[in-house]
Amino acid sequence: METAENYVYKKEVDWSLLNEGFTLPLENQVVFGRNLGRFLRRGESKNITMYLDGKSYKARITNVNFAERHNRKKDMLQIRYSLNGELSNALKAYFRKSYQFISEKRRLRANNDRTVIRLPEDCKEYLAIYTTEYEDTYLLETIVAEDILFLKEIVKNKQEQVLEASFNYDVVDEKSTIFEAERIVKLRKLNKKIGDNLKLLYNYRCQICGKNIGKKYDSHIVEAHHIDYFVYSLNNDSDNQLIVCPNHHSIIHNANPMFDRKRFIYLYPNGLQEKLALNQHLK
Ligand SMILES: [Zn+2]
Ligand SMILES: [Zn+2]
Repeated sequence: METAENYVYKKEVDWSLLNEGFTLPLENQVVFGRNLGRFLRRGESKNITMYLDGKSYKARITNVNFAERHNRKKDMLQIRYSLNGELSNALKAYFRKSYQFISEKRRLRANNDRTVIRLPEDCKEYLAIYTTEYEDTYLLETIVAEDILFLKEIVKNKQEQVLEASFNYDVVDEKSTIFEAERIVKLRKLNKKIGDNLKLLYNYRCQICGKNIGKKYDSHIVEAHHIDYFVYSLNNDSDNQLIVCPNHHSIIHNANPMFDRKRFIYLYPNGLQEKLALNQHLK
C-alpha cells in the first residue's frame, strides 16, 4: 500500500532552507511519523541521503523533542546540511529567484533585524520532501515560481470538481487528465500526496459527518476538498484541504456554503450551520 514515495512535506523556501536546513513538524504527518518511530528515536540523529533530480546529497536528520524545553506537545524533525555545501548550492541554483530576492532584502535591512523574510505571495517557491521505501533516503522536488505560473494558466477556466477529481483519483485515461504537461505532473503528485496523508490522518472518515461510509466494503472513498477553491487559490497546503465523503463533497459544490475558519462551521445559504465533526489539522 505504501508506495515508494509515500509522504510529502511541503516546505516554503526561506533563507534557512537555502543555506543549512529546515524543520518539519511531525504533527499530523502519519506516514512520516510511522516511518520515523522505527528509524529515529527522540533526540537521536542519523545521516540521510537526499535525492534531487537524480543526484544524491548528504544531510543529517535529528528527531528533536521540544516537549520538555519549549513546552510543545509534538516532536519536530530537523534536517541539516552544510552551509555552502553541495545541497545548499544546488538549492540556491534551483531557487535562484528566491535566493536573489531574500539576499537583496537582507542586504538592505538593519544589522540587528532578525525577522524571517517571506517571499511575496505570487512568487513563493517550495521544496517537496518525499519519504521513500528506505528510511534514510528522501526525495526532493522543487516547485519554482515558474511552475506555479504555468499551473495558473492551465487551471484557468477549469472546473474545480474536475480538477479535484484528478487529485483524488489516479486518472487512467491520459487524455482526460488536464495534467498532460510534464512539469505539472509533480504539482499534481504533491497535491495528491498532501490529500492522501490527510485521508490517513482521519482514517478515511468524513470531517463533516464523521463517518467512514466505505468501511464495510473495505473501500476508501473519502475525497480531499479545497476550502478555497484550488482553481482560484492554487493553494494545496493541508490547511486548505478538508477530507469529506463523496456526498458531502457534492453538497458543498452544489450548495456553495461559506466556511467559517474560526469556528470550523459551514454556513449554508438556506441558513443551516454545520460544524465539522472531526478536525485535527485545521487551526
Ligand atoms: Zn460526510
Ligand atoms: Zn471540492
